[in-house]
Amino acid sequence: MFENKENRTELSRIGEFGLISRLASVFPATRADTLTGIGDDAAVIDTGGQPVVISTDLLAEGVHFDLSYMPLKHLGYKAIVVNLSDIYAMNATPGQVLVSVALSNRFSLEAVEELFEGVRLACQKYQVDLAGGDTNASSSGLILSVTAIGKADRDALTYRHTAKEHDLICVSGDLGAAYLGLQLLNREKRVFAENPGVQPDLTGYDYLLERQLKPEARHDIVEDLRTAGVKPTSMMDISDGLASELFHICEKSGTGCRIYEEKIPIDVKSAELAEEFNMNPTVCALNGGEDYELLFTVNQNDFEKIRTIKDVHVIGHITNKDSGKALIGKGDTETPLKAQGWEAFKDRE
Ligand code: ADP
Ligand code: MG
Repeated sequence: MFENKENRTELSRIGEFGLISRLASVFPATRADTLTGIGDDAAVIDTGGQPVVISTDLLAEGVHFDLSYMPLKHLGYKAIVVNLSDIYAMNATPGQVLVSVALSNRFSLEAVEELFEGVRLACQKYQVDLAGGDTNASSSGLILSVTAIGKADRDALTYRHTAKEHDLICVSGDLGAAYLGLQLLNREKRVFAENPGVQPDLTGYDYLLERQLKPEARHDIVEDLRTAGVKPTSMMDISDGLASELFHICEKSGTGCRIYEEKIPIDVKSAELAEEFNMNPTVCALNGGEDYELLFTVNQNDFEKIRTIKDVHVIGHITNKDSGKALIGKGDTETPLKAQGWEAFKDRE
């Protein structure tokens, strides 16, 4: 069982990833029908027929969202979408969600209905049923936990641990925009707090705000790959930032990688706002979170098939483990990729 009971270890020291790998080592899957346990975008369970895929995520007020700029309807929508994204990342099709909420008495019936209107819109768009959940009181703000359930043929499932040397590394859409949208909202919130008379000026930033407040799960990419006859050799969704997700794929697959800075897709609006904030857009793409795009690898032989899929970008390739994980910069400079990502237990000021 757990060692080291005598001392006190701060969670911030081992981080979210450290904690999860400790849990994974203490709770290996023991049952034959647990096909995949802790460690991928979703658990995979053998049912005799098509395997069932299950994923859960928890959103806490003040940590994952700020209701001063996140409308409740958007929050409900986003909570569903981010869970469905994990199901698509397994190359599976979601069918049901369970939604649990803990509410403080600050929330009225109308507010809760607003939240669930967002849930309903996402369920309608992605054709899933809200099939249950739990409702509770909370003494500190809103907590929202969503579980998504899906299915896939066994040989269609895509995992994190199956990338192979020479595979091409691909991402969908563009990266960094959701993070920059959040920076913008935070800036306007600060301005408003200092000068309540000044209204937030968010004109011209619709795309970045939408990426933060109303993300979509890339089921279209999963379908396009299927139509093109390509099964990714590995896949996951980008919730914590490209660098840390690539780290997961490489660590779990026992490989290295090389990605090229100039190939990382960044929208022009993201680049402009990054400049305004004096930030490096590549760093935003690598370490900003919440883009909910897909990161996947394909066999080199599939290059022609994926080349024409809209919104898919090849950003590098998988190498052997000894070559490490490298970012090739615009001037051919090589820097080791660091998985900063989203660290839930990072010390907060
Ligand atoms: P994602 O970013 O795709 O939601 P996470 O990084 O949250 O994935 O989780 C990685 C893996 O660790 C998943 O398989 C998840 O189910 C598992 N995991 C996370 N927290 C816990 C926990 N408290 N107990 C058991 N498994 C966990
Ligand atoms: Mg995921």
